[in-house]
Amino acid sequence: MIPRVKGTQDFIDCTLFNFVIDSVKKHLSLYHFTEIQTPILEPVDLFVRSLGTHTDVVSKEMFLIEQRQESSENRICLRPEGTAPTVRAFNEHHIQTTPWKVFACGPMFRYERPQKGRFRQFHQVTMEIIGSGSISEDVQLITMLDRYFHETLKISNYALVLNFLGCSQDREKYLVTLRKFLDKPGVTENICDQCRERKQHNIMRIFDCKTPECQEIYRTAPHIADHLCSECAQEWKDLQNQLALLSVSHVYRPTLVRGLDYYNKTVFEFVSKDLGAQNTFCGGGRYNQLVKDLGGSQDKAAVGAAFGMERLLLLLEPLRDKLTIPHLPALHMIIPMSAQQHTLALLLADELRAHGLATDIIFEGSMKSMMRKAGSVGAAYAIIIGETEQANRTVMLKNMMAGTEQAVAQVDLVKVLKK
Ligand SMILES: [Zn+2]
Ligand SMILES: [Zn+2]
Repeated sequence: MIPRVKGTQDFIDCTLFNFVIDSVKKHLSLYHFTEIQTPILEPVDLFVRSLGTHTDVVSKEMFLIEQRQESSENRICLRPEGTAPTVRAFNEHHIQTTPWKVFACGPMFRYERPQKGRFRQFHQVTMEIIGSGSISEDVQLITMLDRYFHETLKISNYALVLNFLGCSQDREKYLVTLRKFLDKPGVTENICDQCRERKQHNIMRIFDCKTPECQEIYRTAPHIADHLCSECAQEWKDLQNQLALLSVSHVYRPTLVRGLDYYNKTVFEFVSKDLGAQNTFCGGGRYNQLVKDLGGSQDKAAVGAAFGMERLLLLLEPLRDKLTIPHLPALHMIIPMSAQQHTLALLLADELRAHGLATDIIFEGSMKSMMRKAGSVGAAYAIIIGETEQANRTVMLKNMMAGTEQAVAQVDLVKVLKK
């Protein structure tokens, strides 16, 4: 037996997965989002330019494609995230109508150590709003997600954490302050090696450090939300006020930076204690420079979010009974008693399906084992055809729940089953 690739999984039962996909599509369309599909294969450069060379994703986690021929083509990878591809598509298709509100569902790939709820092939629903700079757009996006998690998916044990990273001028000024803090005696020699490395290349990420010693030190670090220009300060205030007015409860977390270089202003995450250490199941933020950074002709402000299916499914599994998962249609099982009735079974099944009745045929096994099989797959009716029924143009219809049987003329079968 050849097992599956490490860090991947088979979805043997897609009920919950499909429920999320179907319901989120419906929910997103209520908010005027339309679906797009972008390729799984993308140029490596797309992520180097958007995420930054010093992010874990670009430096260690990309699945690179080994090219068969020496070619001048760009190096190719399996996409590790969905925002840069959406922005690429926006630029490449010269989308004129903005804000462009789109979503996509599909697999992403990162070479990480697999653990609970974290896979090397994982599935995301990503949504982006390109071409709107209003902070109220962020409120609308966050509210949309909150309503979805709470009302459609019935998740209650989660929190929305927020931070505000300011504009690029704010960031520049703040980074000087932060660097000063990190250079202070008592700080600089006590932070971990990784943080010292981050200080050089991706300084904001020090706040992601999980080392207790570092976390303790950063409790007294300056916070960017206290170093905003007046315009950003107003936006940060509006964001919190509008969310409160829409009854979207949230928590300010000054250390939330979300790892990637391209975020500015709003960043947020939905977290749940039920998930343990890897507790984020949805995250997003504003990325006002990215369209331009990826070669867009115009500067377009944008905001987006993504949620991971795997972690969301962990949260949903215990809630299965509360969800309005659509029932499968009732199944009818035709049981031909011998090979002599197989053709008739095929013709009858064809007719039932033409009338919208879900039907299958059991071709093999003893009468007893075929009946048992019909019962175990949850058939509503067993439609038994033996030599006598074939000759009489009837079937023996067995109600599997009640255990009752009746002879029914083949021409009346649809009518009886539809009753
Ligand atoms: Zn600012
Ligand atoms: Zn550290």
